[in-house]
Amino acid sequence: MTHDLTYPAVDNEALDELTAMLPGQVLVPGDPGWEEHSRGWILSVDQRPRAVLTVGETEDVVAAARWAARHGVAISAQPVGHGATTALDDTVLLRTRALREITIDTEQRIARVGAGVKWGELLAVTSELGLTGLVGSSPDPSVVGFCLGGGLSWFGRAYGLAAHSVVAVELVDAAGELRRVTASSDPELFWALCGGGGDFGIVTAMELRLHPAPHVFGGRLLWPIEMARPVLKAFRAVSATAPDALTLWAQLFRFPALDEIPEPLRGGAFVSIDVSYLGSAEEALALLEPCLELPARWLNTLGTVPLAELGSIAAEPVDPMPVSETSGLLRDFDDVAIDRLLAVVGAGSTAPLAVVQVRHLGGALARASAAEGPAGAVLEPYQFFCLGVPVAPEVEAAIQECFAEVRTALGGHTTGRTMFTFLGADDDPGRAFSPGALARLREVKRRTDPDGVFRSNRPVLSRG
Ligand SMILES: Cc1cc2nc3c(=O)[nH]c(=O)nc-3n(C[C@H](O)[C@H](O)[C@H](O)COP(=O)(O)OP(=O)(O)OC[C@H]3O[C@@H](n4cnc5c(N)ncnc54)[C@H](O)[C@@H]3O)c2cc1C
Repeated sequence: MTHDLTYPAVDNEALDELTAMLPGQVLVPGDPGWEEHSRGWILSVDQRPRAVLTVGETEDVVAAARWAARHGVAISAQPVGHGATTALDDTVLLRTRALREITIDTEQRIARVGAGVKWGELLAVTSELGLTGLVGSSPDPSVVGFCLGGGLSWFGRAYGLAAHSVVAVELVDAAGELRRVTASSDPELFWALCGGGGDFGIVTAMELRLHPAPHVFGGRLLWPIEMARPVLKAFRAVSATAPDALTLWAQLFRFPALDEIPEPLRGGAFVSIDVSYLGSAEEALALLEPCLELPARWLNTLGTVPLAELGSIAAEPVDPMPVSETSGLLRDFDDVAIDRLLAVVGAGSTAPLAVVQVRHLGGALARASAAEGPAGAVLEPYQFFCLGVPVAPEVEAAIQECFAEVRTALGGHTTGRTMFTFLGADDDPGRAFSPGALARLREVKRRTDPDGVFRSNRPVLSRG
């Protein structure tokens, strides 16, 4: 590994200065509430920041960046912590949740969103207008953290990556100046901000294009896992000819036998098709016929989905939890891939994975250009994603073993690439970008932040 930047430890005098500048806003190890405030959403990542700063207003970010530059300390924004990694160790974490501005220009269909706004909060406002942002499966991630990483949305097939709908980024740069960056004010920096992560400044607000979503039809179809083969084949058949307005994800679930899991899911294993359609119920039901005619279905939640309740389709947990994940992009999902995947995680296996997901991509994601952001076009038609819940070290070992088996099983079908926001905690960001895009991101980092004032959870330059 090459070492491009070095980060000195934060000395106590420097921290005292920060605390004096922003009294009551800085926590250090040993302070009451440290445990809760210093951890990310992913509890299995033992992140060890040097201090946590609760930002109250934009001026606090300016003060923190100037302090960091003066003392040679790295700072990092972590609004929610869905992307927690140990790359953030020894940084000062900025909690930006107080930056909650939401301003909508309905004529231009542009939302200005503060760096603390979660997707659910933005959609609660835009749904009234029949407009949507490019939200993912959960309402919980911050809009800014999601867009900085690219952001794979339910509506990506219709409208592309979330990052490609960003029109301006307000950030505090390495000199501690508040700037509004656009494609014309600083084309290279703007390009890097459209999917290259949090390495280029502390973003205080973003302006995003909104998209029409007058009616969303969607929900979940669920069968026992014994139906996985015909369900996955129907998923593939429908997705192969789906219009861009229709997005399907197939999932295999294994629920633990815990009291908090309702019957009949408790201790059970299932296969689902999750659906989002930008259009009418009649059109969606016609498109979904091969899925709807499969026997032995346990559940059908299809119906009109208010935008503000989009998270109900995938119904992912919002409380912090331990998570291990692996993912990759698939060049196909043919019968061989289905058989090989099910041999590892299908009925009859004892796979210790809570979720194995295959998302259909394509559409506008594939039509993107390299000029829109470092992810460029996503040409692979499917993505696989596996999630385990490592409640104990021996469980984590079994999860990692199973991840390796899934990767081997799908090896002939993967391209080696994965999406930036789906990188595992220890994955190299080079897996998300072409060599050319990664080199360009590194060049932008060296130009805009030569002393390493900012550190992303997935730094584009390796640490020394
Ligand atoms: C339950 C769940 C569902 C998910 N679903 C999807 C999905 O459907 N599609 C998808 O693409 N991803 C998905 N993700 C991944 C998630 O979108 C990314 O981890 C995203 O980065 C989370 O942003 P956050 O702000 O919530 O997390 P954080 O961990 O708080 O932030 C992530 C990183 O973003 C950068 N960052 C955040 N805010 C700022 C800022 N103001 N200035 C500078 N840098 C900043 C930092 O580098 C930070 O480490 C999901 C994650 C979870 C846990």
